[in-house]
Amino acid sequence: MISSLLAVAKEKGAKEVAEAKIKLGKMQQIDIDILNLAFRELTRGTLLEKTKIKVEPEETRFRCRACGHEWNFEAPGKSEEEEAIHFVPELAHSFLRCPRCRSPDFEIMGGRGVWVEYIKISR
Ligand SMILES: [Zn+2]
Repeated sequence: MISSLLAVAKEKGAKEVAEAKIKLGKMQQIDIDILNLAFRELTRGTLLEKTKIKVEPEETRFRCRACGHEWNFEAPGKSEEEEAIHFVPELAHSFLRCPRCRSPDFEIMGGRGVWVEYIKISR
């Protein structure tokens, strides 16, 4: 993530990156505070030293291959299954079903990555 930020900033001839918005998939199970700390540590002495990062969690989305229905994964409460999903998203298939047609055949569309939505730079 940091190397791609740096690459974009350099490509645009930035002297400083004021702000970066990061989307964080909920399935990544990364603590935002830890991400912030790591970012500060890893960017010391670089263009990103003073960058303010905004982290926005991204919902996990599923799409049913049988009926095309799309839905968000909103876990109510904390169950063992939920923990398992966070760590091994592939496990979702063993107990999640399409809420519309009950098909277990669905794909995971979002919520699994970390990426940069935008950056604000000064030259
Ligand atoms: Zn379905």
